[in-house]
Amino acid sequence: MSERTGVYPGTFDPITNGHLDIITRATRVVDHLIVGVAGNDVKGPLFSLEERVQMVQEEIAGMTFGNGTKVEVRPFSILLMNFVHECNAKVILRGLRAVSDFEYEFQMAAMNTRICGDVETVFLMASERCQFISSRFVKEIGRLGGDVSSFVTPRTHQHLLRRYGFNTDATAG
Ligand code: ADP
Repeated sequence: MSERTGVYPGTFDPITNGHLDIITRATRVVDHLIVGVAGNDVKGPLFSLEERVQMVQEEIAGMTFGNGTKVEVRPFSILLMNFVHECNAKVILRGLRAVSDFEYEFQMAAMNTRICGDVETVFLMASERCQFISSRFVKEIGRLGGDVSSFVTPRTHQHLLRRYGFNTDATAG
């Protein structure tokens, strides 16, 4: 049987525990998972594309995936469907949180199906403990000095503290 390759695209600015949960669960759906980090300058990211790729890579390096699924990280700044083709993937994986995600995701999946009918978008429902985690709120809370340590890994937490110019000594780990 041929290998099933999937792309999990996102901005990952920064990668959160919610993203990591989707990555772990996505490895049960595909044999080869490519985490596609979008250039996405429209969103005015806090971290550069290179930084975001590196942060995702650092997180994945420390994870084990039970079923031998290959997980790799690639940046992309082209149309998602073209990137998916380049990856020889037939599946796009997305996470779905509360109702607020639904309309955007529904439209995007429908548009992508029009552009390229042989690629399916598969949605994984956010885990109950990750439902409310979003990169946007992590940034908003973190910028004002709030504690975001339960939403991201200690490593990403350090990156955020440094980016916002907070002292990282006390929390280093
Ligand atoms: P985008 O810029 O495409 O919204 P994000 O990096 O914010 O990219 O998210 C990438 C994907 O991960 C999206 O499908 C989003 O819904 C999903 N996602 C983000 N946070 C969570 C979470 N806490 N639980 C489940 N899925 C999530």
